[in-house]
Amino acid sequence: MPPPVFRFAPSPNGYLHLGHAFSALLNFDLAQRTDGRFLLRIEDIDTTRCKPEFEAAIYEDLAWLGIAWELPVRRQSEHLAEYRKAIEKLSAQGLLYPSFESRAEIAELVSQREMNARWPHDPDGAPLYPGAAKLLSPHERARLLESGAPYALRLDIALACARAGELTWIEHGEGPDGETGSVAARPQAWGDVILARKETPTSYHLSVVLDDSLQGVTEAVRGQDLFWSSSVHRLLQRLLGLPQPAYRHHRLVLDGAGQKLSKSTEATGLRELRAGGSTPADIRRLVDLP
Ligand code: GLU
Repeated sequence: MPPPVFRFAPSPNGYLHLGHAFSALLNFDLAQRTDGRFLLRIEDIDTTRCKPEFEAAIYEDLAWLGIAWELPVRRQSEHLAEYRKAIEKLSAQGLLYPSFESRAEIAELVSQREMNARWPHDPDGAPLYPGAAKLLSPHERARLLESGAPYALRLDIALACARAGELTWIEHGEGPDGETGSVAARPQAWGDVILARKETPTSYHLSVVLDDSLQGVTEAVRGQDLFWSSSVHRLLQRLLGLPQPAYRHHRLVLDGAGQKLSKSTEATGLRELRAGGSTPADIRRLVDLP
């Protein structure tokens, strides 16, 4: 049996906090306990928010925690050609379409819809795409593309789900309502998700699925806030013919007020804790890890 493969996949758009420490240590501990491999992946496709100093800090903070990872580290920004190929594959299946509305136009469409009835929201609480770009005539679509207008490439979720059929994933952790074991995927709940943009040939959903497969990840261990994203990930795996890892969604580390930690809360930042004299053992205690 090949060894299990785990990964920690932070985005370098801020400094790590206790929530990241918990996720990284949990992955690392599981890899150690199972004679598995532990990989680090830098999810840096958002070039406006990701910064080299945050990436450098990730390496430093993880090493301080006592975590060791395999080299080379996979940096998503270096693999755009691979993501582009996947986009072309989905596009050739007729599953993608460009939408041209700005964020403000989308917000306006949503508020119009909300006047009649509650417009559906995705599991993260964002309104589903309300636009009608799927219905543009080929002529109008070509005209807009030629005009150089910015666009987002969306997955036609109804068509994609019809092609893919029923999907489940193996959950070794737990969802927000205690879902575990074999979980039925519900990609429709996300609407026509964005898989790429004019300037960026990928998105979080697409890169995570491709990378987990290319890196041979067998168990994706990550925060419970990403639980329902797995629905989209299973769908993309099926459409692209990729293997599926098992998933383990873990509890989130909350602040004193019971809120999810954000990268800007200094009180729980690893650098601040370290500067204040905390040791790696203190960090383990703070996140309830043995
Ligand atoms: N990059 C994502 C984050 O920082 C995690 C991706 C994943 O584990 O699937 O939230």
